[in-house]
Amino acid sequence: MKTSQEKLVAPAETAIDRVGEAKINNPLSLGRFVDEDEAVLVHISRSNVELQGKGGSKRRAFFEPAGPRSRVYYDPSKTKCAIVTCGGLCPGLNDVIRAIVMTAVHEYRVPSVLGIRFGLAGFIPEEGHDIVELTPERVSRIHEFGGTFLGSSRGPQDPEAIVDALERMNVSILFMIGGDGTMRAASAVIREVVKRRLSISVVGLPKTIDNDIDFASPSFGFDTAVETATMAIKGAHVEATGAPWGIGLVKVMGRDAGFIAAQSALACQAVNFVLIPEAPFDLLGEKGFLAALDSRMKRRGNAVIVVAEGAGQDLLDQTSRTDASGNKILGDIGGLLKGEILAHFKAQGIDATLKYIDPSYIVRSVPANANDRIYCSFLGINAVHAAMAGRTNLVISRWNGRYVHIPIDLVTRGKKRILTDSNYWRAVLESTGQPATMRND
Ligand code: ATP
Ligand code: MG
Repeated sequence: MKTSQEKLVAPAETAIDRVGEAKINNPLSLGRFVDEDEAVLVHISRSNVELQGKGGSKRRAFFEPAGPRSRVYYDPSKTKCAIVTCGGLCPGLNDVIRAIVMTAVHEYRVPSVLGIRFGLAGFIPEEGHDIVELTPERVSRIHEFGGTFLGSSRGPQDPEAIVDALERMNVSILFMIGGDGTMRAASAVIREVVKRRLSISVVGLPKTIDNDIDFASPSFGFDTAVETATMAIKGAHVEATGAPWGIGLVKVMGRDAGFIAAQSALACQAVNFVLIPEAPFDLLGEKGFLAALDSRMKRRGNAVIVVAEGAGQDLLDQTSRTDASGNKILGDIGGLLKGEILAHFKAQGIDATLKYIDPSYIVRSVPANANDRIYCSFLGINAVHAAMAGRTNLVISRWNGRYVHIPIDLVTRGKKRILTDSNYWRAVLESTGQPATMRND
């Protein structure tokens, strides 16, 4: 997928912060330690490699590989960890939690891993949430379930109050699993930790079901989301072909990026229109969506439409409503399309049969599939290795097929989008047969 990740990264932007010098021998007995000189090239296309190499290889950007180091910063027997999950649900959250606990306790033998309940609110005493001691026994089967074992929440929490809680509980390492908001919260916590000169490491695990975070390709849970969305689309296809003038309309997640819609369409090969936020469209007019749908219906008698929730927002009455974390509340594009499509055919005396399926909450709450389980395990395992080695202010991600350390600032810098002039989007259009653009101008 060609995405905005093509922006060049400078070598200085990949440096990973450390809490202090790692002086203690790593207690791990199996496997190999990462060679500190090893590095993973950020940009692998020849043009980018050449562009960066012009000033010598020092101009090339590398990510630090993830994995266990021969020396650790924290004394394992005296290290307390904490895990928090924030924002919306995504398949794989429990797998990440489980892997962190298992690695910390079994591999490093840390005495305690605390589970913070219901997102950042769990740090705030007035909220009254309990703290759970995450033992291997307690988490051994949580990966069989969707959602997050710890619960989640939105809404602002004071970084000072969060660090107060970390100090009170004597936590050395905090793992924060969440989306862009959570990564920004992690940065704020780290600034407070640095201000107080504490030796607390904060490691982020970026979560986005929309697959819109830079430098995570793809993000965990995305594979499961596509697989689940595909089942809904198959249902829509059956409905559409089983009735005269049958139309199946499926709304999937994708606030600013239409990756789930596009990828599911590619997987199904039964979708006739994919509508994504990156490709604005007109409803009316000669080249608009309704004209294209009309033409398809008159040729083939049925159609399957997949729309990302953030598509066509310019067609809806704009409100400035936001959720507790300040995220814009989107207008209901699925509802609008349903009404407009039925009215369009009704005006011609045609009673179209439209089945509208919104699998969003199923897509995000199912347990992870096999691929995502493995992916999430490695993310959790590597998060523990990074933190024990004293790394901080970073996320764990998979990049160019390797697990790497990426500074938090780099992943929150931009958001990944589908480029509508890419071969990827062209493949989607070829699979649907929809016009390259559905705009009149
Ligand atoms: P999702 O992708 O599901 O939206 P998210 O992590 O972006 O996940 P949010 O609810 O936006 O979810 O944010 C998670 C938590 O981080 C919330 O408690 C929110 O208040 C906090 N947060 C968001 N942005 C910041 C910020 N700039 N500084 C401090 N805290 C923040
Ligand atoms: Mg967010």
